[in-house]
Amino acid sequence: MSAVLRPQVNRDTQFFWEGTRAGELRVQTCNACGALRFPPGPSCPECLALDRGHRVVSGRGTVFSYVVHRYPPVPGKELPILIALVDLEEGPRMLGELVGVADDEVEIGMAVQVDFHRVDDDLTLPIWRRA
Ligand SMILES: [Zn+2]
Repeated sequence: MSAVLRPQVNRDTQFFWEGTRAGELRVQTCNACGALRFPPGPSCPECLALDRGHRVVSGRGTVFSYVVHRYPPVPGKELPILIALVDLEEGPRMLGELVGVADDEVEIGMAVQVDFHRVDDDLTLPIWRRA
């Protein structure tokens, strides 16, 4: 196990982490009304249905907001890092590290594309790059 912060994987999030391992960005869907939601959860915030599935999204989005994280230290990371809130083109908003962009280059509205950082056999993290 490498020294990074590891996500909690449970029944509601397993599909997401299986997706990142397969190079897919998967978003939970409601099988009753079709709404997409992130983060995943047991019931639909729109219609309260429990019947859920997921779909693979494009991985394209835009930066809604971001922070430059300088402190405190993050296990396995060299600071500073950019953490972005990304609006997926399909609607849901997702949090993730933005890489390959200097902290004075990032802009609200910047087009980004998901990529995948393989940490080890068990964990692949979604990351964001400038599109
Ligand atoms: Zn629903």
